[in-house]
Amino acid sequence: MNRDRRITREELKIAVNEAYISFRNNKEGKNADYIPYLANVDSDLFGIAVCLPDGETITVGDSDQVFGIESISKVATAALVLKDYGSETLLDMIGADATGMPFNSILAILLENEHPSTPLVNAGAISAVSMVRPVGNSCGKWEAIQQNIAELCGSEVHLIDELYRSESVSNHNNRAIAWLLKSYDRIYDEPDMSLDLYTRQCSLGVTARQLSIMAATIACGGYNPITGKRVFPATMASRITSLMASVGFYERTGDWMFSCGIPAKSGVGGGIIGVLPGIFGIAAFSPPIDAAGNSVRAQLAIRHIMENLRLHIFNGERAVMVEGKPVPV
Ligand code: GLN
Repeated sequence: MNRDRRITREELKIAVNEAYISFRNNKEGKNADYIPYLANVDSDLFGIAVCLPDGETITVGDSDQVFGIESISKVATAALVLKDYGSETLLDMIGADATGMPFNSILAILLENEHPSTPLVNAGAISAVSMVRPVGNSCGKWEAIQQNIAELCGSEVHLIDELYRSESVSNHNNRAIAWLLKSYDRIYDEPDMSLDLYTRQCSLGVTARQLSIMAATIACGGYNPITGKRVFPATMASRITSLMASVGFYERTGDWMFSCGIPAKSGVGGGIIGVLPGIFGIAAFSPPIDAAGNSVRAQLAIRHIMENLRLHIFNGERAVMVEGKPVPV
């Protein structure tokens, strides 16, 4: 039985444009305001980017607008830790389970005190940052974190100073998380330093185009389709994508996977990345978020594209993008 289904680039471009036009005037959700900087970002910004395995990138709207990466940085640093320590150690020191709770939940730490659970919620992400090498060296760790994100995105990424300052003076909940992890021996470097590096990585500026390249790098098994460089070993891609599939939208992840069918990760800055293994990486950005911290327009846009092209990851078909160069192996 042939379960391949051919999708042309033209069909993809039409779906991306339709998604943009359909949702650009949607007024649901509101900017995150617990970080003062984010409250003041223009709520009308909206961009979509899709990066294919041969490097072609389809964009629409504000896809080159720089915004705060926020929790999407957790995916990158999880990849860095996986690369340095391997999956068994990651499982043991952090875990790979959904919490079913909000991203900044303290209760989740109390309930699973043996385990921060996953590097894609705040507790596990701060724990992951604490594992980044060289342990004990804040400058060296920052360089490793920033360089890894740049390699995934295929170009340099810079700190948004104002966002970093804004988060640093308002991150009391995360400070509590860092020290609670310390009391459970689940943080592996100095807690305040780990918290500061976590806050800094969340304050990096990225564009939807860059994030689509990061997502495409994961979709292509660690091979960055723009730079042609291998960023991580191919065997790691399924681990990273699994983490996204299980907890990428926090307490809303099940609903998302059920209805949309693409492992994805959100950030409260309004970005979302989605990874469709072997097919493409997608990113959408728009600041207004829902109660779980996921961008409303970005969710609608990605869902529209997935539904329109009938691309649910579990549909049993193998989507084949045609009219392109072959995927490198
Ligand atoms: N920096 C934010 C925080 O820790 C990131 C949260 C998010 O994007 N969901 O609260």
